[in-house]
Amino acid sequence: MTSFTQYSENSDFSIHNIPFGVAVFNKEYIACCTRIGDMVVDLATLYDYGFLDEVEGLTENYFEAYTLNAFIELGKPITNAVRLKLQELFLENSPLAKDEKSISDCFFDLDQVQMMMPVHVPNYTDFYSSIEHATNVGAMFRDPENALLPNWKHLPVGYHGRASSIVISGVEIHRPKGQTKPKDAVSPIFGPSQQLDFELEMGFIVNENTEMGDSISVENAEDSIFGMVLFNDWSARDIQSWEYVPLGPFLGKNFGSSISPWIVTLEALVPFRTASPKQDPEVLDYLKFEGDKNFDINLEVYLKPENGTENLISESNFKFMYWNMAQQLAHHTVNGCNVEVGDLYASGTISGKDKNSYGSMLELTWRGTNPIKLNDGTERKFINDNDTIIMKGWAEKDGIRVGFGEVSGQILPAK
Ligand code: CA
Repeated sequence: MTSFTQYSENSDFSIHNIPFGVAVFNKEYIACCTRIGDMVVDLATLYDYGFLDEVEGLTENYFEAYTLNAFIELGKPITNAVRLKLQELFLENSPLAKDEKSISDCFFDLDQVQMMMPVHVPNYTDFYSSIEHATNVGAMFRDPENALLPNWKHLPVGYHGRASSIVISGVEIHRPKGQTKPKDAVSPIFGPSQQLDFELEMGFIVNENTEMGDSISVENAEDSIFGMVLFNDWSARDIQSWEYVPLGPFLGKNFGSSISPWIVTLEALVPFRTASPKQDPEVLDYLKFEGDKNFDINLEVYLKPENGTENLISESNFKFMYWNMAQQLAHHTVNGCNVEVGDLYASGTISGKDKNSYGSMLELTWRGTNPIKLNDGTERKFINDNDTIIMKGWAEKDGIRVGFGEVSGQILPAK
């Protein structure tokens, strides 16, 4: 497939991708959009010009909206048809390729657009599904000999996070303040977190509303997943380690999470399906699955000091996940919990076996005991004020590349 739009062979946004997002165009209006190479395409105008008329069920301009929620809710038969139609329109010699006015009205350079949150997120859940991450954290916070708790291999552990503080890539995050208890202190103290961290995660977005009492099976779960984003679950380790017993994460997490602006559909990721790690012991029936449910997506984390350059500090892969997305959604709803369009389900930190594949500073520096050396000669145990964390993700196979771009966020001093 060759597009009439030129882009580099390393572009995350090849014709095989066709992700969805929302942008402000020319500081004038907001519309849903897609991207090919370095061009952002205004779908509301493309719809108005009649290029999507053939898509059955697309009865109104769902792209003239501040979020993708209404479009996503149409469900896969329609959203997939739109994606395939766009792919066709972007090919050489398509009717659009020959229509200069439509291209000039619908195609925008990156510097003419400002990306926004792609969806309204009604609910956010964070899982804890990397066995390497759970083992590393268990070893540091509790007991190296019994790092995994007894439930971990039987169910995808998760908690309900905070949807209100999920922000788009580029939004700055203030260092959180809170209550911590330094190791040898008798009483807790209050102040800015001294152990601010990132968590390298991916998140999936749900495309349907279910009734309370209903469940989504492992078998059907992927039909309910519109697509995925990169996700940085900012974490204050000193606040977290003091507050988390017995009910889990709270103020150490809810001050902010960042997502990448483009939702890459599950269909675009199909070529990168891969086998899941073997689950032993065998899981209960409602968590059993067939086929390749993991995805081979390369992940990188960079730390960029203020006025400095990017330092690659972690290289991981989404395929390492012990629990897959279908199992997570099936488990989440097995008790009858309802889901809503736009819900975001994050994977949990994605760590691999190698030390350079750990998905958090906590693990990379082993809670500060082994600082990371940066190319400007400084060291980091955790994130400093004005540091920027950048996460990138892409899949590549047989000359096909589909990526997410990046999610970045700078840490500002505590307010
Ligand atoms: Ca997390």
